[in-house]
Parts: sequence; C-alpha cells; structure tokens
Amino acid sequence: MSMRWFLFLIVASVSACSMQNGVAPETSFQNELVFAAAREGDLSELEIQVLVAGDADGETVFRFPQAWGPEEDLGALRGALTVVDAESGDPLASDESNGSVTVVQASGQPIRLSWTVKQDYDGLPEWGVQRVPGMRPVLRAGYASIIGHTVLPVIEGRDPAFVIRFDGFSSGAAFSQPSTDGRSRPVTLSTATDSIYAFGDYAFSEPADSIVRAAVLGEWALSNDDIVTATSAVLATASSAFDDQLPSRYFVAFTPLPDVPNGSSVIGTSFTESFVILATRNAAAENLEHTLIHEILHEWIPGPMGTTDEATDPARMWFTEGFTEYYTQLVLLDSGRVSLEGFLANFNDLWAAYQTSPVQTMPSGELLAHIWDSRETERLPYQRGALMALS
Ligand SMILES: [Zn+2]
Repeated sequence: MSMRWFLFLIVASVSACSMQNGVAPETSFQNELVFAAAREGDLSELEIQVLVAGDADGETVFRFPQAWGPEEDLGALRGALTVVDAESGDPLASDESNGSVTVVQASGQPIRLSWTVKQDYDGLPEWGVQRVPGMRPVLRAGYASIIGHTVLPVIEGRDPAFVIRFDGFSSGAAFSQPSTDGRSRPVTLSTATDSIYAFGDYAFSEPADSIVRAAVLGEWALSNDDIVTATSAVLATASSAFDDQLPSRYFVAFTPLPDVPNGSSVIGTSFTESFVILATRNAAAENLEHTLIHEILHEWIPGPMGTTDEATDPARMWFTEGFTEYYTQLVLLDSGRVSLEGFLANFNDLWAAYQTSPVQTMPSGELLAHIWDSRETERLPYQRGALMALS
C-alpha cells in the first residue's frame, strides 16, 4: 500500500460561547504562560506554569483537555499539579475533578498553577499504537513537539492575554508568535493554545527578510530555505487570491513520522498563523509542498469562520477540507508546480478513489462518530468537497 499523504484540520476546541460570563479582574499583574524543562538539558519532562490574576468573584476554574482530535485520555500526560499565590508562593485552596481545577482566592489574587507534562507511552510514537503518531505530545531527551490543545487548559468564562515565556531552552523554542529573548508579546490564551510548540534539537530559522519562521527537525527533501521560501510564496499567492492582507507572521514546524513499509506519509495540521507537518523522512518534495499549500490555505478556509464546535467539525469537512483541497490543486497549477495534465490527472485520481470508496454513501452527519475509523472515512469529505468545488 502506498500512503502518500493524508491531511486534516482540527479547529480550536475553545468554545466561544463559554466566554460570556467572564469577569476580568482589575489588576496590573502580568499574566504569563511559562514552559521550562523539568530537568536541565532533558526535554522528556516539561514544567508548564500559568501565572494569572484570579477571577474577581474569588473562584477561578481551569479546564484541562481530556480529548483533542484523534487523541483521548490526555490527563494521563499530566503530572502533579500545584497551586500557589504567584507573588508570595503561599498555597491556595484548590479542588480537582474530571480534569477541572477550581482555585479559591481573593478577588484578582495572582495564581500560579503549575504541572508537568511527559509522555504516557514509551519511546517514539508508532503507527498502530497512536492513531496519528505525533499528534499526542512527543517529549524526548533532545526535543519536544506539543500541540497546545493537548496540554493547555481553558480558563472558564474568559480568555485573558498572556506573555508566553520559554525558560532555559538553550537550543531553542518556538510557537506561532515571535518570542524574542524567549518572550512573546501578550496573546490570548486561545491563541497560545491554537499553536504547535517546538523545543530543542530543531533547526530554528528566523530570516530577517521574511514573515515566516521555521523549526525543522532533521533532514528532508525540502531544505529549510525551501520551506521558508515556499511558505512565503504561497501565503502571498493565497492572500492575493482571497483579496486579503498578507499575515504579518507565520510559523512552520516539520517533525518526522515513523517510517511506513513500502511508502511514505505526510500529515499536516493547521493552527492560528502556524502549522505542523508530520512526515516520514522519505517523503517526496512534491508531497511535502502539496501538504504545505493545503495547510496554508486553511488560513482562509475556514480561517475567517473563527472558532467552531470541534465535536461537529467532521460534518463540515466537505467544505473545510474538500474546498481546501480544491484550492490546493489550483495553487499547484497556478504556481507551475503541476502541469494542466497533472492537474487533470489529480482530479481523475480523486474521482476514481471516491467511486471505489467502501464508505461512499455514508451521510456527512454520520462521519461525526466515524471520521477516525479508517483512511477511507478520513478521506471521504476531501473527495466529496473537492469534486463539488470542481463541478
Ligand atoms: Zn486540511
């Protein structure tokens, strides 16, 4: 079997409707979200700290993720949690149940909530063990790759701004926003969550003349310069095609997938002003570029729709994935990466795969429960949407 690529998008799990009860405390305390290695020179365990002014009503609720995308039981990644006053270090009363931590404090009192994150599996991710190796956090001695949604909590009722701080990563650390000297400008917690984080042995490039930053782990068919250049070019093409402004910053991470027998695989997932490519080392340049273009186009499809309900996202994938795939083919054609013959051949392949799909007649609502069941169910909305857009 040749697994060339498969792709998907998962939209932020933070529900916009939970923000209406927010009581912003009046305080000058600087909220910070801090990532640090639990031990010097070893990234197999990270410590995360949330320093935030507590709710004005004296009770602050942090809801940790239980599941995200294909990943479940995310609480198993989390180590001992402590809650103290962020300035005095005195313990604060707190209660944890079902992944929610309720902290009782004086109005606006600064809270420091800290916990550790490490893998709940041995070694590197593997096909057949993880549904998609690399979506669950990977924390090795030399590097760590973490999707914010899998480890960061939501603060019930509000979405405060935080400075993101990287503490003691001598070989480098990056996420969607620039972090000069290890500190970002203030960004909302939901923005911090909707990002890929890369730490350690990546090659971090931050060309002064480009809006694109990259973190690339190891060698690929595309060089780091190729990745930055292609990302910049596609951002320019797409923003012009959608009659929109060029984003002011963008971050790309490349992380290896385990080998697959007799083939290669490329998976992309996009976030706010960033995306991650997970790929086998032997992935061809054209497959990496295809996925890169697809992920960038998610900035516009469905980017402007904002936050959606993750639970019902699969029912909209005919649009969010299928139309993205259609535009990917147009960008490939437009940029000269494929010929007109190649463009037509790609759609003929897509049509043939749809015609022979064993799940061809599954209604899109049924995909809610079955999207991760098989490669055929995952691919179905891409096929339907792309063919619909073409017609
Ligand atoms: Zn996608």
